[in-house]
Order: sequence, then structure tokens, then C-alpha cells
Amino acid sequence: MFVKIKVSIRSARLPFHSCGEKFILEVCHGCCVSANKESAWVYVGDSEIKRIESLGGAINNNLMVGIPGEKNKSQCPFLDESTGFCAYHDDRQPLGCRVSPFRISNLGVLLIRKRNLALKCFKDKTWQGGVKLPAYLGHSRALIALFGKVEYARLKAYIEGHELTDDFLDTPFYLDLSYALLYETIKGNLVRRREQDRRDSPNGIESKLLDVTCKQLCDSIVQERGDLVEVKHRKIF
Ligand code: SF4
Ligand code: SF4
Repeated sequence: MFVKIKVSIRSARLPFHSCGEKFILEVCHGCCVSANKESAWVYVGDSEIKRIESLGGAINNNLMVGIPGEKNKSQCPFLDESTGFCAYHDDRQPLGCRVSPFRISNLGVLLIRKRNLALKCFKDKTWQGGVKLPAYLGHSRALIALFGKVEYARLKAYIEGHELTDDFLDTPFYLDLSYALLYETIKGNLVRRREQDRRDSPNGIESKLLDVTCKQLCDSIVQERGDLVEVKHRKIF
């Protein structure tokens, strides 16, 4: 089953330097990998756990944890501290890393993560003459990981086929996302929120309740967007 995800065109056009090897090595040194006392807070979806473990990652409660005994045990174990580069800067990364800087909100809207607006790839104004790309081009890999090549091409053609007026930028566009990926991304939001809340309340939201909440959120998006699916089918057939 596919679900309509609302895309903020204004957000998809925010200018970024691409998250490529050159920019990481020369400018940011992988500064987006946050560290805290207990884990790197890298979300690993249920369907990815075995795959990430086979690469050497340790996972606890859907979060990648540092290697016990290592100097910086709070950091992601795939991070090369000397270069700031990810050991797997490709499709082997957890989905949460591959879709960055985008996120899907609990209301089913594709947005740029707030924290990414504080990073060098957004803030830098000088590297290579300060020339950046709109997020939908510079981070096409992230959008393809979520929606696939066909849906990505539809978004690109839509944006490039219009004048960038305020009206156009404020009118949402819809892309099809599989229910399974919607579930994984929203579960990622809830897992990260749970970790934040645990700082204040060690008993936080339990795993079982988290899955129930996640399903409720996904189903309410499906319900809200149901009419749009109907409209599309009427047009096609
Ligand atoms: S997201 Fe931005 S700050 Fe983080 S590694 Fe990529 S380019 Fe650097
Ligand atoms: S898997 Fe790679 S991109 Fe993701 S947090 Fe770890 S080092 Fe960074």
C-alpha cells in the first residue's frame, strides 16, 4: 500500500552543499554526527537491524550504540573520527542517515530537519564560490531512498516546470510512499523522542506502546489522504 506524503516545495528548494566526500573532507568533517552520553541516536528500523548488525553495528532499542570500551563510545561506530567520514557512505547506511536532511513529520509532511539548517552544508557561504543546490537536487539520493526513482522524477519535473512564485512554493505536492517506509520513518521520530524524554523520565514510552502510537499516526495519515488516492485512480482509469 502507498500513502500520499505532502511535500513542502519551499522546503525542498532550500539551498545546500551536497553531502559528498569533498565537502566532508574539506569543510564539515562530518559534524552532523551528534554524540551524547548513551548513544549516537542513529535510528535503525526493524527491517534493517540484521543488515546493520552484519556490518558491525550494535543496536539497542532501535538505536545504534557505540562500541563498549572505545574512547568515544557515544559516537556512531561507523564514523571515522580522523576524517569525519562514514565507513558506509552509500546504500548500506541506515535509512535515517540516507534520507537526511529530509524527514517525514508525524502528520505525513516531507520537510528538512531543523537541525540540518544549523549545519555547515546549509550555513557555509564561501566553499566553491558559495554555489549550492536546492535540496531536491543536492540530496536527490535521500529522496530516491524514500520514494524511488519514478516518484523523484515526477517531483523534479513538477518543480522545474513551474515559475517559482509564492503561490507555487506554498502549494503542496504529493508523492507516493510505501506504508512500510512511512511506518519506519515515523517510528524513527518516536524512538528519538523517547530517548529525549528519557532524560527527564527514565520510564518513558514503552516499546509496545510506541508501536501502537506509530500505527495510529500512520493510519490517520492514510485516512486523511484517502481522497487523494481516489482522485488519482479516477484520473488514471
Ligand atoms: S549532512 Fe552536512 S554537515 Fe553533515 S556530513 Fe553531510 S555535508 Fe557534512
Ligand atoms: S552510519 Fe554513517 S552517516 Fe550514519 S551516523 Fe553513522 S557515520 Fe554518520
